[in-house]
Amino acid sequence: MSRPLVTGRFAPSPTGAMHLGNARTALLAWLHSRSAGGRHLLRFEDLDVGRVRTWAYDETRRDLEWLGLDWDEEIQQSSRLEHYAAAIAQLNTYACTCTRREILAAIEESAGAPHGQEAIYPGTCRAGSAQGARPVARRWHIPDWTVCVPDALRQVNVCQHLPSEVGDFVLLRGDGVYAYHLAVVVDDAAFNVTDVVRGADLLGATPRQVALQRALGLPTPRYLHVPLMADFRGERLAKRGGAPSLMILRQGGEEPGRVLSALARSLQWEVPDEVSAGDLLTLWRAHLAAVQPLPQT
Ligand code: GLU
Repeated sequence: MSRPLVTGRFAPSPTGAMHLGNARTALLAWLHSRSAGGRHLLRFEDLDVGRVRTWAYDETRRDLEWLGLDWDEEIQQSSRLEHYAAAIAQLNTYACTCTRREILAAIEESAGAPHGQEAIYPGTCRAGSAQGARPVARRWHIPDWTVCVPDALRQVNVCQHLPSEVGDFVLLRGDGVYAYHLAVVVDDAAFNVTDVVRGADLLGATPRQVALQRALGLPTPRYLHVPLMADFRGERLAKRGGAPSLMILRQGGEEPGRVLSALARSLQWEVPDEVSAGDLLTLWRAHLAAVQPLPQT
């Protein structure tokens, strides 16, 4: 059986109710997969058990169904731990017992962290770390690479020099939770994800994920980072006091077509007051074509 050309995914963390910003990312990821006739996955990123809310799985599924966004397969990262362990075993990692405070102190003592930028771990534990009762994290001894990743939607090439801009990062936390960067890379490859549509807040995390792909011999998908909706309140959808969750809108009797219309209008798409997800498929293709020539199919 031939595989579809595109496989996309929406990867929510089931830590609470979906808000309109998540819904727009979910919509765009779905539009991207389906407008290409591709497969679409729903992946619950539920590794951080302390933050997971068990009700959030069902409410997320209901929200997506209510909006008319379907999926072909559901994945829960919490049931895939052995795959993350196997990936770590292939990488050059080391145990680290440093606390955040110790790391920050070491940075201050050395060059100092530039203001407003991510603090780069200075490699304190590379030569071995003090053992004892402290929780042990595993860090990746990153290669001295500069990794560049093109973003197909923003038409930018994001480059990072790993040692100076990223630093050895944690793959397995001291509390036993596998890191997001590792899990996302392992799962995108395991489920043949070709196109990653996700929020622009993750653009800066992409080079380190691509570095992991290269080190693990995995393919790199196409990336499309969609703008975030920081202050979006959905015009007429908003109640006083902030962006409503989809669950509140749905349970309050709102029409999903009006929600979809508000999401589309937040992208400056001209749409009627009520639309279906299917109505928006051609608009996504037009949106993509405006930033890049569509591949010949
Ligand atoms: N779970 C992440 C989030 O909710 C998304 C990760 C991804 O799409 O790579 O922001």
